[in-house]
Amino acid sequence: MSDERIVSGVVAKSTPVGESDRMLELITKERGKITVFARGCRRPRSPLVAYTRPFCFAEFTIIPGSSNHLKSAKSICFFEDLPLDYEAYIYASYFMEFASYFVLEEMESTDVLNLLYLALKALTAKNKMPRKLVRFAFEMRMLVLGGVGPYIHECMECGKSCDEGWFYHSRGGLVCKECRGADSGGDYLGKTELFTLRYVCAAPLPELFGFTLSSEVEAKVLEFCEAYKRRNIERRPGQFPSLEELSNLGSF
Ligand SMILES: [Zn+2]
Repeated sequence: MSDERIVSGVVAKSTPVGESDRMLELITKERGKITVFARGCRRPRSPLVAYTRPFCFAEFTIIPGSSNHLKSAKSICFFEDLPLDYEAYIYASYFMEFASYFVLEEMESTDVLNLLYLALKALTAKNKMPRKLVRFAFEMRMLVLGGVGPYIHECMECGKSCDEGWFYHSRGGLVCKECRGADSGGDYLGKTELFTLRYVCAAPLPELFGFTLSSEVEAKVLEFCEAYKRRNIERRPGQFPSLEELSNLGSF
């Protein structure tokens, strides 16, 4: 039918409504964040049941209207093992919240969708990357895709490329040794830290997850990421709970 639309996306949030329905928040390549009503999907034998669970990547056929309705879906990946691993489930839920914070309606979101897919793959991989590093790589890249990435590819004063420098969180950028002069401010980033940050901000997405770091470098870049997020994410009530709040454990 001509009024149907097919979108590729992921179920970022799935909320039960009434006795047998669900309201889905999808993050889609073509239309950014959209809300879709899935009627009857909680009834036994509903063909929609598997496609309305969180983390299902699929092609969704939607009937647009004053509210969008889900007609059918064709799965790309269900990530059905995620709910069996509580920690991975919490991380995945957090990634969806984090991405949802940045994605707007009608925003082309191919890279965001690919990033989410690869991050969930990294969470569930057998030879897995430490999850706090998956989170770090995901967050930094999502900040870049959300248009608020750090200015680290060159000195923001003189424009020269530098392989170490001082990051000024108040100004969102890197300053080289010569331009910093006798100033005592800034957060020092050595060669490895800066290389790591540049990597997670710009590496091809399929190569983003899979690295490890020494404990010293890891501590430094995770600290950088936390400080950067505090400055650049404006939280609103009810939006984007932290990983700690989601887990309610504070142990990650
Ligand atoms: Zn400079």
